[in-house]
Amino acid sequence: MSKSPRPNSGLHPDSLLAHAGGGFDPATGAVVPPIQTATTFVRDEDYAPIRSGHIYSRDSNDLYLKAEKLIATLEDGADSRLFASGMAAIAAVVRSVKPGGTLLVQSGIYWGTTLFLRKHCARNNIALVEADASNFESVHDEVSITKPDMVWLEVPSNPYLKVADIRRISELCKAHGALLAVDATAATPLILKPLALGADLVMHSATKALNGHSDILGGVVSTSDPDSEAWRFICEERQIAGAILGSFEAWLLLRGLRTLALRVERMNANTMALAKSLENHPKIDAVLYPGLPGHPHHDLAKSQMTGGFGSLMSIRVKGGKEEALRVAGSLDVFQRATSLGGTESLVEHRFTIEGDVTNVPENLLRLSVGIEHEADLVSDLEQALTSI
Ligand SMILES: *Cc1c(COP(=O)(O)O)cnc(C)c1O
Repeated sequence: MSKSPRPNSGLHPDSLLAHAGGGFDPATGAVVPPIQTATTFVRDEDYAPIRSGHIYSRDSNDLYLKAEKLIATLEDGADSRLFASGMAAIAAVVRSVKPGGTLLVQSGIYWGTTLFLRKHCARNNIALVEADASNFESVHDEVSITKPDMVWLEVPSNPYLKVADIRRISELCKAHGALLAVDATAATPLILKPLALGADLVMHSATKALNGHSDILGGVVSTSDPDSEAWRFICEERQIAGAILGSFEAWLLLRGLRTLALRVERMNANTMALAKSLENHPKIDAVLYPGLPGHPHHDLAKSQMTGGFGSLMSIRVKGGKEEALRVAGSLDVFQRATSLGGTESLVEHRFTIEGDVTNVPENLLRLSVGIEHEADLVSDLEQALTSI
């Protein structure tokens, strides 16, 4: 009889996820891992750690290791590191660009990233170049002229749902010696694997669909090259700067990941149905969703993504701020709240949040589509749109 779990290699991601990476707790036989709350670990009489690698929980913890291994497998990567939030993960990656360096960031992405990068780069003498990376010619010109140390993309972008060409941009980056990092939060590793497309690093806000229940903050970065200088920096930065996830959060993340495949499947289907139902709606100017054949980056999205186009979409209602707020205020199933990727559908008027940082249109509503019944979501928007 086997006393330790056999590896689950070769299984489909859905099966790995259902078992939270597989295995059981060798100490107790429990199917669900215990929450490891200890911050410190004992040494033996000869002063060797009793469990190799475990000295202090800022360095390592069984739950992080389990979740990191699972996420690295989902990404087709070699290693992952969890962080205390998506922003902490972004900060660790970006700090690998040294003062005097240059960072090229896609414009029109998650405003928190834009805000952080503007402040961080200004404070640290790093040149920040903002470019519409969904336009390959534009990013090609900017990379050739500014020779950045790192290019930061967000695919698909939040809240415009633009799609940058990861394959071509990764070739461009390699030719110019730039590192390519991709925030793929709005996709999840089940439908977009930037590392397999040539990116050096992929990052997710685990706060969103990875955990999926709107009850923890977390972030994760993965690589396909654990020996690279950038990866060593990121690992060291997590350990010494200390932006680690709490044990309870890591446990909840593993629990959330068990249903990721089911949730993503339902959320993708719901979002597609909703986008189609709104596409030709007389009260809507535009539906921004790469799954729609009419989306300008639909073919590219199809060539990069598998199994769906994600659960984030935006609509631009006819009119301005007042009309957008009236529609948001009339929704009953969609809750008015920020964030995305949870089981519950959310609506947000982005201009109210980020209007002074970006020039997001006043008539734009961002929708994060959950796992409710498709018909309830379609009819909720239908009735809310009668308010304008
Ligand atoms: C939410 C989000 C982040 C930031 O993650 P936190 O976990 O909130 O720190 C980064 N990128 C994208 C695309 C996001 O949606």
